[in-house]
Amino acid sequence: MIYKEFLGHKVSQLGFGAMRLPQIGTEWGSPLNKEEAIALIRKAYESGVNYFDTAYVYGGGQSEVILGEALSIYPRDSYYVATKFPGLHPPQGGWTMEKVKETFEEQLRKLNMEYVDFYLLHGIMEMDWHLYSDPNVPLADYFHELKKTGKIRHFGFSSHSKPDLLEKIIEWKDYFEFCQIQLNYLDWTMQDAKQQYEILEKAGLPVIVMEPVRGGRLANPDEKCTEILKNAHPDWSPASWALRFAGALDNVKVVLSGMSNMEQLDDNLGTFAEGELLSESDRELLLNQIVPLMADMVPCTGCRYCMAECPMNLKIPNLISLYNEMNFSPRTFYLNGLKEEDMPSNCIACGACTTVCPQSIDIPDVLQKLDVKIKEVKK
Ligand code: SF4
Ligand code: SF4
Repeated sequence: MIYKEFLGHKVSQLGFGAMRLPQIGTEWGSPLNKEEAIALIRKAYESGVNYFDTAYVYGGGQSEVILGEALSIYPRDSYYVATKFPGLHPPQGGWTMEKVKETFEEQLRKLNMEYVDFYLLHGIMEMDWHLYSDPNVPLADYFHELKKTGKIRHFGFSSHSKPDLLEKIIEWKDYFEFCQIQLNYLDWTMQDAKQQYEILEKAGLPVIVMEPVRGGRLANPDEKCTEILKNAHPDWSPASWALRFAGALDNVKVVLSGMSNMEQLDDNLGTFAEGELLSESDRELLLNQIVPLMADMVPCTGCRYCMAECPMNLKIPNLISLYNEMNFSPRTFYLNGLKEEDMPSNCIACGACTTVCPQSIDIPDVLQKLDVKIKEVKK
């Protein structure tokens, strides 16, 4: 395992993302498969992973509980836990300092730990910035102060914001110690990840990477991309290429991978086993050959924030994934499994989903185009 120095700690470059723990069933919101999840986390730990990332909201609130239970058999100082404050999900009546304190204490109880190594404000972006920066609820100052008690060891934030807001957040408080951003070779240009990385580097803030495989999409590129990648390195999976791109950046300390099964874990462990992650020519191949081939993809990460807003209960990320798939193979077999109530034609174009999408995707427009594609195929 490759380790890097991060705020005075030796952290594994592969971080365990507990956002996509194994579930019982495949439906969105299915309960987590505790037994499988614990086995996966423990295997990661025993293979050298020492950075584990979760959040209040992951796994319907169960990710923190399962992560805490899985790690409870190991010495507390032999691993690092990162979790996040759910500012973007205020309780009934909005945030108050009392609720903020209660939420943090609840997180410690769920983790069954006395402290959190790395605590983050979760997902600061344009739509929730007002919640985090509300002067009447100075939650960031509270968490910063909490460091004195030892309940938080390091304080940072994760962000899906555009570069302008990212700069504003850094200027807003000078005590943030690190930042977690979405970074992968496709977003390096498509979603300003390069610009964000440079802003953070200039500000001296180390970077934790999330979505290095773009919600799994870069693990399954189309045939042409797969062939190019295989020819260059027959023993690297497409997911491995994506992780290597992120990990090879100097200021990236940990690359989080949301692992759901042993196969993914084994592949990731192989990627970060040792040595140089990516040569300059490999990097150029990704940016100059693969990205242009993928550039017409809709950049959905599968975060599912939009689904909670949809009055028609549409499985939006699945539909976007189908849209991307149909760009490559119009007669995809995924089409056969689509029920009438899940069809994109049910979209009433209310736009509620787009307002919460961290990727600023014009979802009704994509669904309308998908509807046309489906009708053409079914003719
Ligand atoms: S625009 Fe369509 S997909 Fe988006 S919330 Fe409205 S009905 Fe759902
Ligand atoms: S459309 Fe946007 S909000 Fe919905 S899953 Fe994709 S990235 Fe997330």
